[in-house]
Amino acid sequence: MATNETYKKSVETAIANPKLSKALHLFGDAYLTARENAYRGLDFEAMRTELAAIKDEVRVRRKELLAEFIKNAEAAGSKVFIAKDTKEANDYVINLAKGKGAKLIAKSKSMVSEEAHFNKAMEAQGIRTSETDLGEWIIQLAGQRPSHMVMPAIHMFKEEVAELFSKESGKRISPEIKPLVDHARLRLRKEYFDADIGLTGANFLVADTGGIGLVTNEGNARLCATLPKVHVVFAGIHKLVRNMEDAIKITRLLPRNATGQLLTSYITWIRGAVPVDGEQKEQHIVLIDGGREALYESKACQNALRCIQCGACANVCPVYQTVGGHVFGSIYISAIGIILTAFYEGLDKAKEITRACIGCRACVAVCPSKIDLEEIILHLRNEVTKEYGMGVVKNVAFKAVMKNRGLFHSLVRTASKLQAPVTHKDRQDSGGRIIRHLPLHFMDRDFTEWRDLPSIASKSFRDQFDTIPQHVTDPRYRVGFFVGCGADFVYPEVGVSLIKVLNSLNVEVIFPKTQNCCGIPALYSGDTETGIDLAKQSVQAFTEADVDYILCICPTCTMAVKRDFVDRLADHPQWSAKAMALSNKTMDASAFLENILGASEKLKPMDSEKAVTYHDSCHLKRGSNVWQEPRALLAASGHQIEEMKNSDRCCGFGGTYSFLSHPQISKQITKDKVETIQTTGVKTVATDCPGCMIMLKGAVGKADKTIRCAHTIELLAEALENTK
Ligand code: SF4
Ligand code: SF4
Repeated sequence: MATNETYKKSVETAIANPKLSKALHLFGDAYLTARENAYRGLDFEAMRTELAAIKDEVRVRRKELLAEFIKNAEAAGSKVFIAKDTKEANDYVINLAKGKGAKLIAKSKSMVSEEAHFNKAMEAQGIRTSETDLGEWIIQLAGQRPSHMVMPAIHMFKEEVAELFSKESGKRISPEIKPLVDHARLRLRKEYFDADIGLTGANFLVADTGGIGLVTNEGNARLCATLPKVHVVFAGIHKLVRNMEDAIKITRLLPRNATGQLLTSYITWIRGAVPVDGEQKEQHIVLIDGGREALYESKACQNALRCIQCGACANVCPVYQTVGGHVFGSIYISAIGIILTAFYEGLDKAKEITRACIGCRACVAVCPSKIDLEEIILHLRNEVTKEYGMGVVKNVAFKAVMKNRGLFHSLVRTASKLQAPVTHKDRQDSGGRIIRHLPLHFMDRDFTEWRDLPSIASKSFRDQFDTIPQHVTDPRYRVGFFVGCGADFVYPEVGVSLIKVLNSLNVEVIFPKTQNCCGIPALYSGDTETGIDLAKQSVQAFTEADVDYILCICPTCTMAVKRDFVDRLADHPQWSAKAMALSNKTMDASAFLENILGASEKLKPMDSEKAVTYHDSCHLKRGSNVWQEPRALLAASGHQIEEMKNSDRCCGFGGTYSFLSHPQISKQITKDKVETIQTTGVKTVATDCPGCMIMLKGAVGKADKTIRCAHTIELLAEALENTK
């Protein structure tokens, strides 16, 4: 098990190698374009909904389908062995190899064989294994494990590969792609002919035929399956599909999502021990459980077995792009890797990587199997917290302080006064103040070396509300304002702006004072108990307020009320109906302005146009599907939007992630975002999330004092002033 210290070291080492992160970013950008082109004209949402349904049916009928597969495979001449774990699977092959006097196994790419540490197990018995997938062969020579499920050697550069090939062959191989590939082709071809056994994985186990399907790009799987006299298939039981129609539907998604290809170079269907060149063959199918049945039985996590192993969740993940798969994963990497590691290798092995996820939901947006990876990771984080605790700081902050609203808010008021010696005037913002340097006891975290921190507002929104005049007679709607901690204590001016904008559209704002923090910092740290307590406090406050809608200006709060309150209170009979009622009338302020009030038709443009670039907050775009609305509102109020590259890539905030658990990873993610903002040449960056504002104001402000970051609602309120 990686200890906290060794894990921290591995993060530091990865960050100290910017070459790796740069290469992963370049790949990630090219991947997004290729994927977009590959899906052009297709309905990705409909396709992935269908795939999820196919996989869910397999889960429900798995015992029946497994029996059908075995019956049909055996009828076609295959031998089928069910291994309860990877050791049993390896032992089966060892016995088979020994019985045949086999000395060499040629392998095509198989993640389950990585999971089984197959090569090591064979070599311990004197049986040589030769990887034949180029990437797998490279890492076999390097003595490493894959850092990506589809591109196992993506972390290596051609110079390193040339060095490995030169060492292995005893002659100098030039570090250019063609000579490297030529060498591998020549060198590996011999292995297929010399091998006694060929081992492949399987993308599909087709129940109604008893055959298998392989989706590959290099053709090596075909050679492994056909040239040696014995073909062993290593596959997880979750690779079952009902029939060929379902398998073909999956092949329409898999290559598009994995590499942006319309189709891979080879799709191979093999049924039974097919004679080759008139020679009889044997086919052994080893079906491995290895934790899959337990995963199927876990209500909270079972959807993970819908996975078709396309690797896309890594391609788009900002954490993976920063530290790579050797840090952010085990055998399996990134989002799906966290979940599979917990079930296949044990929760202790997944402990650190579960916390390393920043919660941006980029993986959820691209997953072709419609798995809510982030939600499952949150569940696992909760399990990790139950097992290993949360740390003293969070324990005190969540359990002793946040739950007690009175204490929490008076401590914030006190902190606002005590911070005076370390705050300075914010040059971006005429009224605001920032923390430039922290006292020495905080300095080991180096909080302020790369970003300014916002100071706590001298007067919170809740302390100002009663004094804010509202100019509405006979309001069209009465809306409850769920302020969230960021706007309440750091940026109360955004709340004031919201009142201005809503009043101008004849909407009255109600502020239930007994609302508390949405609980996400506690929930995302794995403290469900505090999360539930806080949810109840706010559900009670807004139920009593009896308003038409509930508006948030923080997308994380929106997600909390819409999703998490409902989930967390589902088993609390006196609360569940109230939580559901609140969820149904909660929305982000931009969505309300545009979709309910039709504000972009009513707003007047400013006297002179202002250029802005827009940063999509992760939870707004991917949690609430709101991204067109703020752009429509900004445009209608006279802002000219210059789109930045990857506007929906995470800014690196992640709540306590950027302060307590992973500030080094946050720093790198934020650095990328700041560079993309600077590239636009625009001096105002708009966003709809106070959390993103903390990160962007702080880091952009440090990098370039002339760039301002503001909430969309603030810009709308300013536009109102400028049209009078
Ligand atoms: S939620 Fe974001 S950080 Fe977490 S695994 Fe998914 S893509 Fe990576
Ligand atoms: S979880 Fe989804 S995105 Fe990740 S590898 Fe599996 S299918 Fe692909």
